[in-house]
Amino acid sequence: PPTRIGLAGLAVMGQNLALNIAEKGFPISVYNRTTSKVDETVERAKQEGDLPVYGFHDPQSFVRSIQKPRVIIMLLKGGAPVDQTIKTISAYMDKGDCIIDGGNEWYENTERREEEMSGLGFLYLGMGVSGGEEGARRGTALIPGGSFEAYKYIEDILLKVAAQVPDGGPCVTYIGKGGSGNFVKMVHNGIAYGDMQLIAEAYDVLKSVGNLTNQELRSVFSEWNKGELSSFLIEITADIFGIMDDKGDGYLVDKVLDKTGMKGTGKWTVQQAAELSVAAPTIAASLDSRFLSGLKEERVKAAKIFKSVEFGDNLIESDQTVDKAKLVDDVRQALYASRICSYAQGMNLIRAKSMEKGWELKLGELARIWKGHCIIRAVFLDRIEKAYDRNPKLANLVVDPEFAEEMMERQSAWRRVVCAAINSGIATPGMSSSLAYFDTYRRERLPANFENLTS
Ligand code: NDP
Repeated sequence: PPTRIGLAGLAVMGQNLALNIAEKGFPISVYNRTTSKVDETVERAKQEGDLPVYGFHDPQSFVRSIQKPRVIIMLLKGGAPVDQTIKTISAYMDKGDCIIDGGNEWYENTERREEEMSGLGFLYLGMGVSGGEEGARRGTALIPGGSFEAYKYIEDILLKVAAQVPDGGPCVTYIGKGGSGNFVKMVHNGIAYGDMQLIAEAYDVLKSVGNLTNQELRSVFSEWNKGELSSFLIEITADIFGIMDDKGDGYLVDKVLDKTGMKGTGKWTVQQAAELSVAAPTIAASLDSRFLSGLKEERVKAAKIFKSVEFGDNLIESDQTVDKAKLVDDVRQALYASRICSYAQGMNLIRAKSMEKGWELKLGELARIWKGHCIIRAVFLDRIEKAYDRNPKLANLVVDPEFAEEMMERQSAWRRVVCAAINSGIATPGMSSSLAYFDTYRRERLPANFENLTS
């Protein structure tokens, strides 16, 4: 009998999503350009409980094996591979069939394809899939945008495949028209960049200013994960401090290269912020930090120069006395306030685009589905959801009455952390730019009058 759905692209994400869909009771056909991955997926499906996954080595029998109207999810490297795969599979599709791109695709590519496909009588969705490998397999946040008709046709599958949150239901909702699903996923990734940067800075301040050991860091982050900061990234950060390296002669965190790259969505987020004239300094700072981290060799040379006899070590105030417990409590507050600023920037970016494109995106709903198995899931998303439910037109998260109170309560600690870091020569670009964002936003009068007079 025909299968209910098809999936093309069986790398990490596709393979796991296919198994997840099959496990939820939907027989699925799978296809991949390199056929060994098809066999691998079918084998895994057997091992993981005889799941109904059917493999095909050629696109024609793959497409024809799916019940009509057909739905095929693609999980591929974005750009040309997506166009090539659409060409390959659409040759065997019939009018009314639907393609869903589940990758991290540039939203304009999705809009172009949706238009091209609709000219041929096909439906098209661009669906952000969050949560990485684990999320794809066990349940994740799904962010579909594009044809509503296509969404309705596979809603039953998506509702089951999405992560289920006890107080929030399945982490999926129809987002809006056009490329909105991809756009929202892009900003979600930008927010994740900001979060990771801010957490890295908290670690740096505690280690470099507070001299906390890895064991102490582990217990601090575990403790934080029980409170207002509770989130996936804080949880895994706590775990990371407990991991020893393979040889057992030290902690993994101290051995890993301090250099990071990026996949593109973070950069797109910052580019879009500039295009839309929306300030997103925390997310931009996280991107800049990644660029600078990449210059490892230059930094090694620069460190030597600034530690040389000629300059001495007078760059840094070394007579700061540190009260560890107080520092830990201050950093917790600085991290929380900074993260709220970062989420506020992401939300405002989404809203600006939604207005430009007429997508009518609901920010509260986005916060709700991000509570699922996605990288930015956090307890405070619940409160962000409520803030937008209370006031869908909320100009900025920081002025929601609840968040405003929290920002005020935390601002002294936040300033102390940034000052301590600056005085110690430790850069906290994420926390500092979040604070600058807050301080700029909350002021009635800015020195822009001066710029007006000089330009
Ligand atoms: P990759 O991004 O590494 O893409 C590999 C897949 O693309 C393979 O199936 C590969 O086929 C296929 N492919 C590449 N070039 C072509 C081509 N010219 N024609 C046909 N197929 C091609 O896989 P991932 O599983 O990591 O990610 C899939 C998508 O999901 C990406 O858009 C990614 O950004 C996104 N994503 C990834 C996450 C992750 O944690 N990895 C998390 C969330 C989203 P072949 O085997 O034949 O080379």
